[in-house]
Amino acid sequence: MAQGFIKKRTKIVATISDKNCEPDFLRTLHEAGMDVVRINSAHLSPEGVIKIVNNTRSVSDKIAVLLDTKGPEIRTTICDEPIKFLKGQKIIIAGNSDEKTTASVINVNYGDIAGQVPSGAVILIDDGELEIKITGRKGDILEGSIENDGTLGSRKTVNIPQVRINLPSVSQRDLIFIDLAVKLDIEFIAHSFVRSKQDIMAVQKVLDGLESQIKIIAKIENQQGVDNLEEIMDHSYGIMVARGDLAIEVPFERIPGIQRMIISKCIERRKPVIVATQMLHSMITNPRPTRAEVSDVANAVYSQTDALMLSGETASGKFPVESVKTMARIAGEVEMEKEKYLEMPAGSLSGEVSAYLAKVAVKTSIRVNARAILADTVKGTAIRNMAAYRGVNPVVAQCYTYRTMRELALSYGVIPVFIEKKESVDEFIRTSLKDLLKRHVLKDNDILVLLAGNFSRGSGFSFIEVGTVEYLKERVMIGKSDLMA
Ligand code: PGA
Ligand code: MN
Repeated sequence: MAQGFIKKRTKIVATISDKNCEPDFLRTLHEAGMDVVRINSAHLSPEGVIKIVNNTRSVSDKIAVLLDTKGPEIRTTICDEPIKFLKGQKIIIAGNSDEKTTASVINVNYGDIAGQVPSGAVILIDDGELEIKITGRKGDILEGSIENDGTLGSRKTVNIPQVRINLPSVSQRDLIFIDLAVKLDIEFIAHSFVRSKQDIMAVQKVLDGLESQIKIIAKIENQQGVDNLEEIMDHSYGIMVARGDLAIEVPFERIPGIQRMIISKCIERRKPVIVATQMLHSMITNPRPTRAEVSDVANAVYSQTDALMLSGETASGKFPVESVKTMARIAGEVEMEKEKYLEMPAGSLSGEVSAYLAKVAVKTSIRVNARAILADTVKGTAIRNMAAYRGVNPVVAQCYTYRTMRELALSYGVIPVFIEKKESVDEFIRTSLKDLLKRHVLKDNDILVLLAGNFSRGSGFSFIEVGTVEYLKERVMIGKSDLMA
């Protein structure tokens, strides 16, 4: 059935668990507005990852898959049952990764913890639920005191704000999952706790060794990541503002400012950006969001992010579908009000002519109130270039590969579709217009902006045309019979 264009231009990334990933469920989320499935390898076995990817692919070839690594992360070891700690209690912290955590010793998966954490430092466990102040060191153990009453379960996160821990960029566990990601041919790897370009380059090296096209998203979740943002961006496809850990590693009142700064840098450099964590946290248990959450989602959209992310809301919450719908509703509403064109230099990502035409296309589409921009692409670069202007009209990206089509699932305002490679502009217009008219309801006097290239010579746009649907149909001789299903 042909329908109107999407109701929202901001993309939605939804975290999915292997415990709730049946195709019908994923289809419902997709129809509600989910564009990308996110899988967090920190909580899954390889079998779980395979199941989610296969189910996602069975639902639609349009949904991109993003897999998070664990990255250089410290966690506590398992304990037999949750342990209660009281404020003022003394505690030992040790790096025996094979030993359990008990009421007297908290073990972590990092052997040299005592060598790296100075006296006076604060260790935050389980996203800050339990705070420990380090009071001294004896050999390879740390002594500390519990700063608040709290309960500790198995394998909880350990944050040591402001302390630079000398962990390798890619763990053995990460290697297993990166290898799996390549075999499953997914679109994105989101690397956790990126501190500098070295962390990204290490993942890239593994991917290159496997001849993989997978794109890397850098998760910015500590001070070092913020400080080294520019060089990290030089080596990454995109950025995730990973507010969960970031708000523990960095004073939380700085998070809104950091979020805005990262989004605008990403737009300038044409890098997809995702705002993540606790966007609709209360919807894990409640059918409606809090007012603060509505404002948080809206704020990210006003800042012009490419994508919004859901974590526990969709992975384990009671209202996953409502969460996606709620996010889509807020995004759709704010998009009608916010600034609809960002003035900036024509970024030359794929040649100067192409970059300039991309800018002209967006400006023109706004000026003439076009229904859509129709453009072809090999790698998606020129499309991301256009998306960066955050125009009003959807960019219907005619992609020559399925990988590019799915990669663009993360880019603002882009509707990616697959098309066989064309030999000429006319052939491109004919095929893509026919496809568009089959999918969407358009009137004869609706205006379209067409942008193409990639034919005889190199990649990038070299051609732009503006016209009504009626004129374009005539120009490439599309009749009624062409539009039958
Ligand atoms: P996580 O990453 O869910 O893997 O911790 C996101 C964040 O820290 O915000
Ligand atoms: Mn995190």
